[in-house]
Amino acid sequence: MLVRPANWAIRRLPPALIAFTVLVELVAVVLPFLLPGRPPTGGDWLRFGVLLTVGVVQAELSRRTERMRRFLASTVHVNMTSVWIFAGAVDLPVGLAVTLTVVLFAHLWERIWRQLASRPAHRVIYTATTVVLSVLPVRPVLAAVSGALPFLDHDLRNLIGIAAAMAAFFVTNSALVTIALKLRYPDLTVKELFGGWDVNALELATLCLGGLTAVVLMAHVYLVPLVVLPIVVLHRGVLMRQFQEAATTDHKTGVLNSVAWHDAAARELDRGADFGVLMIDLDHFKLVNDTHGHLVGDAVLREVADTLCDQVREVDAVGRFGGEEFVVLLPGAALPDAIRVAERIRTAIADLTVTEGSAAVSALSASIGVSVHPMAGAVLEQVLLAADSALYEAKRGGRNRVVSLFDPA
Ligand code: GH3
Ligand code: MG
Ligand code: MG
Repeated sequence: MLVRPANWAIRRLPPALIAFTVLVELVAVVLPFLLPGRPPTGGDWLRFGVLLTVGVVQAELSRRTERMRRFLASTVHVNMTSVWIFAGAVDLPVGLAVTLTVVLFAHLWERIWRQLASRPAHRVIYTATTVVLSVLPVRPVLAAVSGALPFLDHDLRNLIGIAAAMAAFFVTNSALVTIALKLRYPDLTVKELFGGWDVNALELATLCLGGLTAVVLMAHVYLVPLVVLPIVVLHRGVLMRQFQEAATTDHKTGVLNSVAWHDAAARELDRGADFGVLMIDLDHFKLVNDTHGHLVGDAVLREVADTLCDQVREVDAVGRFGGEEFVVLLPGAALPDAIRVAERIRTAIADLTVTEGSAAVSALSASIGVSVHPMAGAVLEQVLLAADSALYEAKRGGRNRVVSLFDPA
């Protein structure tokens, strides 16, 4: 079927983003021809062939994993193909390194991404472009730092050179991806733009493996296939973690979902330890929706969830029970501690101003029911029931308050 340009997904993007991506793409097409490169030797062609083969084999073995990851992925997505591409950037003349990048991306596009609506062509092309541009500084940096070492002698400058080349690749890629994301989604937070520690550690891990692959490629070219299986397994491990996160997270707010929160509380109960529970319900939240619409309501829910996380310790578990009702588990907290945390949360919510588009929502308030184990009972249901009854009392008493059914003295 012929797709008319008027229907291309790229037409719906902000003009600044289109201008920026087109400029970057032009640079990526022209620059490789301007950089000095030596003509490939027979050895270069052999190494190119080996990297291409293992890259295609790994992508084929990882097809299902990659497809599932793309379904689950949020904004920042790490590509395991960087292992082969970075190894090529280190070992091959620039023309072959760029060709390897383009061919591996074309293969991934044809075999996996083409069928995914979340990967329109213009995004794949831009991703490939950023990787091509990340490849370009690798050899100049390596040559500047460690000279023309072929990795075969034992010299600390090999490590420093590879580390500097990794940094050049990483920084170029992150910068180009971040700028495009910011132009596309101006409201993204820093964490959403750059990805968390996990994402970046994974990206660095693929570059480390790429560096090691580059060394093996020079020293024992036929040992390179030994790298394939570890990467396939690492990739699958990453998918498992994504599954786990998706299964335990409330998607709207990023805190634990109800099932995961119950699991956390049940673990605390099994340990036989004391803990506090706060049940938090926003007051007259329906009014926020009715006044500003559901999207603004959702933004308020996200901000409230962030506020809850800011106000509690790392060991505390914040969950969303549904609607505008949140719950916090406070391991080790006795009743006075739990009440203090609840008051702090109540005040923080009252101080919030949430801006979303042209709307600004303030004067929010929450009612909070406090309960503690073991005072409220030996089983989780009793503790939750006591918190829920306290919350009901808080609503009945006029809202915007913290109530516990027990005497803190
Ligand atoms: P109260 O002070 O008695 O708690 O009043 P309320 O309006 O907060 O309470 P109620 O439970 O009657 O209404 C909750 C509202 O929360 C109703 C629903 O429209 C809204 N809501 C539930 N889930 C979501 C959501 O995911 N997003 C948005 N925007 N609104 C939601
Ligand atoms: Mg409410
Ligand atoms: Mg409610």
